[in-house]
Amino acid sequence: MSFPLEPLAALRAEVRRFAERSIAPLAEEIDRTDRLPPEVFRSLAEQGLTGLGIPTEWGGRGGGTRALSVVLEELSRASATVGTDLSVHLSVCAAPILRWGTEAQRERWLRPLAEGRVVGAFALSEPGVGSDAARLATRYERTENGIRLTGSKMFITNGKSAGVVLAFATSDPARGPRGISAFLVPRGTSGFSVAQHLDKLGLRGSETNELVFEGAELPADAQLGKDGEGLSIALGALSGGRIGIASCALGVAQAAFDELRTAVARDPGDDRRGRLARAWADLAGARALIERAAEAKDADEPYDLAASTAKLVAARAAESIAQEAVEVIGPAATRHGHPAERILRDARVFSIVEGTTEIQERIIGKMLSENAGGEVPSRHA
Ligand SMILES: Cc1cc2nc3c(=O)[nH]c(=O)nc-3n(C[C@H](O)[C@H](O)[C@H](O)COP(=O)(O)OP(=O)(O)OC[C@H]3O[C@@H](n4cnc5c(N)ncnc54)[C@H](O)[C@@H]3O)c2cc1C
Repeated sequence: MSFPLEPLAALRAEVRRFAERSIAPLAEEIDRTDRLPPEVFRSLAEQGLTGLGIPTEWGGRGGGTRALSVVLEELSRASATVGTDLSVHLSVCAAPILRWGTEAQRERWLRPLAEGRVVGAFALSEPGVGSDAARLATRYERTENGIRLTGSKMFITNGKSAGVVLAFATSDPARGPRGISAFLVPRGTSGFSVAQHLDKLGLRGSETNELVFEGAELPADAQLGKDGEGLSIALGALSGGRIGIASCALGVAQAAFDELRTAVARDPGDDRRGRLARAWADLAGARALIERAAEAKDADEPYDLAASTAKLVAARAAESIAQEAVEVIGPAATRHGHPAERILRDARVFSIVEGTTEIQERIIGKMLSENAGGEVPSRHA
């Protein structure tokens, strides 16, 4: 069975029902055990959710950014881990293959990704390299048989389960951004291994791994895009991915708001109602910004400014509403196993992933100052 993608209200209602029935009851266990049962990803695949945004000719469900955003929000409201893993799979692995892949690469990877037989990952960050991705140190060299990768990648979501990793490497660090290219690394490639699982504060159960390439051998056709296009592929994927991650943060903000609202309803007071009102305004603001960004992307209009703004505001809303929920609920919310405690830890991660808050501020500040005096189109403002 798969959900109708239109109208969005029907999609939201169906996904919410599914998430409340099949995912929310597992959220505490996923967090406590730091493990996502494989059945969860399979159940997303059965509902057609692993193929969102992938055209039907490649086995996907089609659907635009707005539909994806609604799905990620509702899944993340039940479990931030589940929403985030799906966001990475679709937005920064499948989407760049669709956009930059050759017909053969699309044929090889999009159908299994869409059907959930293969999980996707995106490997840009390295030990010591995050925000300034142009400084990455993983090397590639051309060999008689193709390409050899050497180096390591850090904090890679879905790293261990991934059937394909979109990895970025440089031919020579001295060449800066122009030296970077992108590669599709299949699981089982000789010389490629998962070095460690990182035990984290939040998004527990979402695999975050170190990946190591020790002379990993790839055929020449594993390259995505042309030589030197790697950084623009990475940044393009992250810009689209930001709407997805913002939607996950919105789901977490909504989950925190639900906790806060229940607590205020149980024991109202003017101060508590004021806190609830401020949280409501933050939530509504984040939702409106995400909708604008998704609309702009679906309309093939520039959306970088809108996506960064949405990510910045949604990550802040998740964190501040989760803080409020814990404060209003009181000591019970500080105990492991209380949903508000898990939500607060999950919320903290969104200001870091797919570009930190400071990096969003730099992107937004640069675009606005370069356009000073010019009009910022209302959809993007
Ligand atoms: C749970 C999780 C999942 C992740 N998943 C992935 C993944 O799937 N793939 C992947 O490639 N990466 C992933 N990452 C890595 C993530 O993208 C990086 O952590 C992030 O980009 C920040 O990089 P960094 O950790 O090296 O921090 P740094 O870049 O070292 O930043 C440290 C601090 O300095 C600030 N800072 C840095 N540069 C500037 C500047 N120019 N101006 C102002 N402030 C600045 C940052 O905002 C931050 O507060 C993940 C991280 C986490 C926590």
